[in-house]
Amino acid sequence: MATQTKTASAARTGFVPVMFAVVLGLGLITLTGHVQAAALHDAAHDVRHATGFPCH
Ligand SMILES: [Zn+2]
Repeated sequence: MATQTKTASAARTGFVPVMFAVVLGLGLITLTGHVQAAALHDAAHDVRHATGFPCH
């Protein structure tokens, strides 16, 4: 009985992180699919410079 209750609780608490991951993933795919490629490149380039990563 106690194991059954624990399993149901774990399944309920796992729903929110899964939905968060699904929404985040779909959002990233939608964002990267619709944004201009040059804008993505510039953003990645700026992050590379800001973090001190060797670039050019
Ligand atoms: Zn650079």
